[in-house]
Formats: sequence, C-alpha cells, structure tokens
Amino acid sequence: MRQVKQVKYEGVIKRYRDFLPYIKEKHIITILEGNTPLIKSRNIHRLIDPKIDIYFKFEGLNPTGSFKDRGMTVAVSKAISEGSKAVICASTGNTSASASAYAARAGIKSFVLIPEGKIATGKLSQALVHGSTVMQIKGNFDEALVIAKEIANEYGVTIVNSVNPYRLEGQKTASFEVMDELGRAPDYHIVPVGNAGNITAYWNGYKEYYKAGKIDRLPKMIGFQAAGAAPIVLNRVIKEPHTIATAIRIGNPASWQKAIAARDESGGLIEAVTDEELLKTYSMLAQKEGIFCEPASAITLAGLIKLSEKGYFKKGDVCVLTLTGHGLKDPQNAINVSKEPIAVPCDKLSVLKAMGLWD
Ligand SMILES: *Cc1c(COP(=O)(O)O)cnc(C)c1O
Repeated sequence: MRQVKQVKYEGVIKRYRDFLPYIKEKHIITILEGNTPLIKSRNIHRLIDPKIDIYFKFEGLNPTGSFKDRGMTVAVSKAISEGSKAVICASTGNTSASASAYAARAGIKSFVLIPEGKIATGKLSQALVHGSTVMQIKGNFDEALVIAKEIANEYGVTIVNSVNPYRLEGQKTASFEVMDELGRAPDYHIVPVGNAGNITAYWNGYKEYYKAGKIDRLPKMIGFQAAGAAPIVLNRVIKEPHTIATAIRIGNPASWQKAIAARDESGGLIEAVTDEELLKTYSMLAQKEGIFCEPASAITLAGLIKLSEKGYFKKGDVCVLTLTGHGLKDPQNAINVSKEPIAVPCDKLSVLKAMGLWD
C-alpha cells in the first residue's frame, strides 16, 4: 500500500517550493489554493470510449472557483515581496475574481478591467464583493489587456495577467498534483485554450518533473479553442471573437507561441470545437458525473469525444481533462440549457403526478 504522509496543507507555494521562485514566508499570500481532486470518470468514459481512462482535474474547487488561484498566489506574493501597493488586470472574469481575492487578503488595492456585458455574473460579483475597483470598458479582452499593460509599465502597478511570469509558475503546480496522484504522467492532458497560459504552464510542469527524474514519460498536450475564438487553430488574430464560453473568448492569446511550442514539443494538438458541442458536454458532465463546471471547461470533454470518434486513442490510454472553473460562476447559463422547473399546485396528488408516480 502506498504510504501517504499526512502534513498540514499550506497552499501551492509551500507544497511545491522546490519548483517555484523563492518567496519569504512572511510575504506568502495564500488562501490554500490547489490540492484539487482528480476525479475518475464513473459513467462518461463508458459512453464515449470504454477502453480509455478519463480523469477530471476539477479546478473549480479552488478558493475563488478557478485554476487562476494557483498563479495568483505566486504573482501576488511576489508583488508583496517587491513592495507593490496595487495590482491590475484585464479579465474575462476569473482572473479578476482571483486577483481581487488575493489582493484583499494581502491588504493592497486591485483594479480590474472587464469587457462590458461579456462577463458571467458570478465572476463580476466576486470582483465587486472583494472590493476591487471594477471598470467595465466598451471593448473586448484583448483591448483591455493592452491598456492594463501600459498602465502597469507607466505607473508601477503590478500586472497580474498571465503576462506576469509568476502566474504561469504557480499554475504549473496543477500538473505536479496530477503526477503525484497518478504516480506517472497521463498519456494525454487536455485543456481549454484562451490566453494559452494554462497549456503552457502544464507543459512546463511536466517537463520540470521529467528533468527532476520524477516521471519517465511526458504526456501529449491537447488544447481546444471555441470555434468562434480560435486564433491558434486558424493561425490568425480574431478581431471579434465570439463564444458562449466567455472564459476563452480571446482573439489574440498572450502565450500564443508558447502554446504552439507545447503542442509541437509534446506531439499534441490544438483544435476547435463549436459552442453547440461544448454545451452538450457541459450538461453531460453535470448529469452523468455530478460535476458542474464552466462551459469553457467542458470544451475539454467535447474535444475528447471528437478525437475519440476519429479513433485517436488506444486501449489503456490515460487522459486527464482540466475542468478549469466552477459552474456556479454562471448559473444563468445552466438554467438556459436545462429543463424548466415544473409548476405544480400545492398538494400531494399533483406532486405525485408531476413525479410520474400517479396517472
Ligand atoms: C482563464 C480560463 C481559461 C483559459 O485559460 P488560459 O490560460 O487563458 O488559456 C479557461 N477556463 C477558465 C474557466 C478560465 O478561467
């Protein structure tokens, strides 16, 4: 039996300190992010491809409900150690939710630029409740990022978008957790691709464990973009990206070249999936596995299904899918794609009829 030493969990910076930039104890800002479950598929793999193993790395269970917290703990801790008094980010939602929470915990200011009307209610509520200055701009994410970068350069406010290298450092800890749990790297690691930071971070993490001799084979990195926001797949900037999956509604990814390197070095793929396909797997994950994730997260399963239909996988392949954010971020979307509640008069017989137990 595998011996697991029980130690108090203190967040990703302490757990993976040997693989992360040095940060003094007193500067560490953590809300105990990371340590998320790797959930083995119980039902879906049988419906799709019984010969492969599917695991969901459910990043929706981070403190602010997305994987962004892994990078934010490192970025904000570094900002604190450098004496920064404020952070700024452009965001499709989750970066702002995370930046706001970590800045609040650190006791510094946060400024958030979001595209007007294109951010899920849950994410907006998070930035607001944590006390950020939230600015809705009449533009898209890519335009907001340009402004945030300029202000950061000129006014000494720390930018915490994934152009901040510490974000990717923190985010790679998710791949460490996967390998620590499986005792190996998966054959395939599938992630949604928006700004392309996460696919880059995972690949870096896998390579670092490989170099350290902790694993003996690397996975293939597979990324999926929404069809209406697929600059890497189409090999051109998309001026007006559109998709229901707002977290990956990005037309000019910051880590474009790094994502291509991750794809090519690993022998993987980056492909596109339609909104219709990803909404199907969004409901499927909720109804067949009990996992409520964001539409952007469900793109991983939609992509896996596509590849599986083409006969891409072989028997025994281990596939890990990162479910990047929690479904509660955008409850309206869940309501829109689901059956409506049934209106029932307030008596037992009517309820029984509605249940199908009485005709
Ligand atoms: C940020 C985010 C993504 C995209 O990740 P990138 O690193 O920008 O590619 C996907 N899903 C969710 C839920 C996110 O918050």
